[in-house]
Amino acid sequence: MAVIGWIGLGHMGGPMTANLVKAGHSVRGFDLNAEALDAAVAAGVTRATSIKDAVEGAEVVFTMLPKGAHARAVYFGEAGVFANADLKTLLVESSTIDIESSQALHDAAIAAGFRLVDAPVSGGITGAEAGTLTFMVGGEADAVAAATTYIQPMAANIIPTGGATTGQAAKICNNLMLFINLAATSEGAVLAERLGLDPQVFWDIASVSSGDSWALRTWYPIEGVVPSAAVNRDFAPTFTAELANKDIGLAVAAAVATDTPLEIGKHVAELFQRLVDQGQGGKDCSMIVKLVDGTLA
Ligand code: NAD
Repeated sequence: MAVIGWIGLGHMGGPMTANLVKAGHSVRGFDLNAEALDAAVAAGVTRATSIKDAVEGAEVVFTMLPKGAHARAVYFGEAGVFANADLKTLLVESSTIDIESSQALHDAAIAAGFRLVDAPVSGGITGAEAGTLTFMVGGEADAVAAATTYIQPMAANIIPTGGATTGQAAKICNNLMLFINLAATSEGAVLAERLGLDPQVFWDIASVSSGDSWALRTWYPIEGVVPSAAVNRDFAPTFTAELANKDIGLAVAAAVATDTPLEIGKHVAELFQRLVDQGQGGKDCSMIVKLVDGTLA
């Protein structure tokens, strides 16, 4: 069993490390947030007091951080992963970040002599808890193959995507579709109720009809229908509106860079920006339903 270093023990990193511990690995975790670190330690992770403490002597280091800026902060600098990990250590960057930051990490890894893959995930907290995430893994083929062994206890699907940053590219396009689906589900759900349909009856129909989607099955934004949905817990976040805003913003930026018109994506990005501007960034992204039912403008 391996010694694994892990930086970022939030909504995703917490349950993902719990599955590595259950698989018999020794996980040394670090997070700036004391609560997140305590929760991971309660699930069997060994407390690290710094990035250096987490990565020294580890066979593999995973990072699961909010945005590109956090990933850069964790990898670069005197206290960072590149300065403190052994060159033999495999680096697996699993956060969803912009292509430029991902490329900068790959470039720095190659320059220093590290193997690094970008390995973002899909499946949400429920997938993280169940160990059924989809990992999209980009990088040199031997590094991707090596990462697969460690990823296994957290994943139902591990899909090599090609060279450096292609995992991020897959993730960004997937989440563009997810958040458009969430906006569409919110509109259908509110309209169905206003047309007199029982929410459960409508959900039963849509989930076996052409309106089906992962967003509908997992995040349905009407209370009392889908147990995993944040609407049942006053929109306590499973995936924050701020992170959704970030992800769809990554797609819009990538579309600008590739001269791709994203009419719907750009509109949905504006909806998430409105949630963030109204102080709802820390709530679950399914709060977007509040822009449909008129609670928020
Ligand atoms: P989160 O904010 O809950 O967790 C991130 C953690 O990183 C926090 O605990 C934070 O304290 C820690 N952190 C930030 N900077 C740090 C630093 N310099 N050193 C150490 N720790 C640091 O976010 P999350 O929901 O776990 O998401 C993590 C990543 O996974 C994001 O990129 C997100 O887009 C992606 N993602 C999330 C979900 C989801 O459903 N939540 C699903 C798929 C992918």
